[in-house]
Amino acid sequence: MMAGTVRGLSARLREVCRLLAGRFGRPDLCAHETDPVRNLVLTILSQNTTDANRDRAYDRLEERFPTLPALAAARPSELEEAIRVGGLARAKAKAILGALARIREERGGYSLDFLRGMPLPEARAYLTSFPGVGVKTANILLLFSFGMPAFPVDTHVLRVTKRLGLVPATSDLAKAALSLEPHVGPGDHGPLHLNLIRLGREVCRPRDPRCAECPLLAVCPEGKRRKKAHPAPVRNTLPRVPRSVRLEGHATGGSGGIAEAAQPKGKGRIA
Ligand code: SF4
Repeated sequence: MMAGTVRGLSARLREVCRLLAGRFGRPDLCAHETDPVRNLVLTILSQNTTDANRDRAYDRLEERFPTLPALAAARPSELEEAIRVGGLARAKAKAILGALARIREERGGYSLDFLRGMPLPEARAYLTSFPGVGVKTANILLLFSFGMPAFPVDTHVLRVTKRLGLVPATSDLAKAALSLEPHVGPGDHGPLHLNLIRLGREVCRPRDPRCAECPLLAVCPEGKRRKKAHPAPVRNTLPRVPRSVRLEGHATGGSGGIAEAAQPKGKGRIA
């Protein structure tokens, strides 16, 4: 990418972040689970499901296995049963138990604190070496548990950034995350990630984006294209015609038409 383009992307991301904060504020990052190993479990559970079902699955898992050693010692079938509500239970149980066993084997306990202070690309490479852990999961963990300038891209963020022309239309989650990440301003990775998700859910929906009420319309090529293709309907400024006059105008049989329209439904009308 050329230097001018790089500066352009950074400036556009800064502007998007500013406009979103103007609409939604700067969200609180502390609302997320921050213990790294628990965050890893939570983000594995969040794959291909809704936040509500992810939270239900996580609550049941915590209830059934209150400590990490208890969770690591669970039989796969028990864990599957506990997290079934979140979907893909077999694959997720396998990924969680595999990750815990490997962390225990390599680190002698259930801790990922050694990642703190590690260069971001190295920490990400370590996490994505776990089966079932992709760039999105790794970046969530690195951002929310370690405060690293990682930029997680989920389906909402991908859709919105494509429409904004910030990533190519062919980008996938990982490519978009890695191309945007270095251009997001210091301290903006968390707020921008969370506000783009909120925009994607509430305004820039997959079908029928509500461009007319979007805070990003002024900087969005897709929004401008849609506005041009479907300009807002011209308001009818003719004075409102009273209902009785309209009925008279459509009646073909003189006062009989009005009389029929005015009759109540039921026996009286048939008679
Ligand atoms: Fe999405 Fe429309 Fe907003 Fe662009 S202007 S981000 S297409 S809702």
